[in-house]
Amino acid sequence: MKWLFICSLFFSSLFGAISVETKWTEGDTFSDYLQKHQIPQWLIQNIDDEDKQFLSEIQSGVKVFELYTKEGTLIQSLIPIGREMQIQIFKDEQNDEYLFDIIPIIYGIREHDVVMPITVSPHSDIINNIHHAPLATKISHLFKKSINFRKLHKGDTLALIYKQRERLGKPFLDPEVLVAMIETAGKKKFIFVDEEGVGYTKTHKDVSYVTKGKKKVKQEVKVKSSSFGMPLRHVRISSRFSYKRWHPILKRYRPHLGVDFAAKRGTPLLAVGSGKVIYSGWMGGYGRVVKIKHSNGYISLYAHQSRIRAKKGTHVKKGQIIGYVGSSGRSTGPHLHFGLYKRNRAINPLKMINKRYNKRTKIITKVVDIIKKKKVPIKGALENKKRLLEIVKNPPELFNWQGTKENFMYFNDIQKGSKG
Ligand SMILES: [Zn+2]
Repeated sequence: MKWLFICSLFFSSLFGAISVETKWTEGDTFSDYLQKHQIPQWLIQNIDDEDKQFLSEIQSGVKVFELYTKEGTLIQSLIPIGREMQIQIFKDEQNDEYLFDIIPIIYGIREHDVVMPITVSPHSDIINNIHHAPLATKISHLFKKSINFRKLHKGDTLALIYKQRERLGKPFLDPEVLVAMIETAGKKKFIFVDEEGVGYTKTHKDVSYVTKGKKKVKQEVKVKSSSFGMPLRHVRISSRFSYKRWHPILKRYRPHLGVDFAAKRGTPLLAVGSGKVIYSGWMGGYGRVVKIKHSNGYISLYAHQSRIRAKKGTHVKKGQIIGYVGSSGRSTGPHLHFGLYKRNRAINPLKMINKRYNKRTKIITKVVDIIKKKKVPIKGALENKKRLLEIVKNPPELFNWQGTKENFMYFNDIQKGSKG
């Protein structure tokens, strides 16, 4: 058992004063409190503006320690504000006036080892043997998920180690359970408590963390395609691209690897994109043909021309006139047969012309937040388990809070008050 008290002595025996522990009455203001103890109201006026705000932080039900003379005059009052600080009202005997201060709460921390047979339930047994209701509640809560209390038997064992802050000999704030164990049906069931007061049945816990990770996701993206223009102005499509279509002259199914644009004879034909003329002349059924090689492996073909203008080997710019609509070769009337090839394979020109962007679903790799879990050991869990098992072998005497002295104060608690 570790005692961490700084200093203590029995104040009451020294000065013949009477120490009283009360609770702050619900609804009471600080002014009400002064009135009850015949302390002049001007004490409030002397409080710094900054300190005044803490007066409304006094919570109803909070434990107030008061010290009285034998005659019943209040000589000191300690009122907690939060868990670390407290209001101190004290009587300066020399000047016969009350003073106000905000000082740290002085408390000690002690560890308590508990081993006890279960006779009724862990909750009742803690209350009966230790007189510590918050501890009983905490233990019930910690085992709630892992143990069915109704299935416990008389003679099962409860063991635990807890830390308790104490102030003036009484528990101050809730107990902190480090480890607890219930042994039932020959099995030891542990609860290990982490720094946040959360209990776990194992000595490690899963902790989630966020990390940057790569994830493959489907996304509709705009893919830049060719920026080919139209091969002639004022177009009317008379026959579309097809891998199998009815051929009106051959009267058979044939592929039509291009698009026919109906137009008047002599209509200028325009290069759909910049490039190099790689063919200019007669080409069997296609009649007079110009072929232009563009970047990215594209080749455009303009067939059935009446007159060719672009010469082989020359460079043409997009929109430049390269020839004129005609009906040369195997043709039923004036039109342009326009073909487009990518790496020597015919593609549907209408899918490429004038469409600067194509929408496609692509699998892309995105950097995203990924929540991962990792196992981390609970601080002190293994050591506490070892300690607890040793304690069970050699059970210590139970510390019962009912028997603690009420009438002693730590010297530090009243030091300032007594000095004035
Ligand atoms: Zn055609």
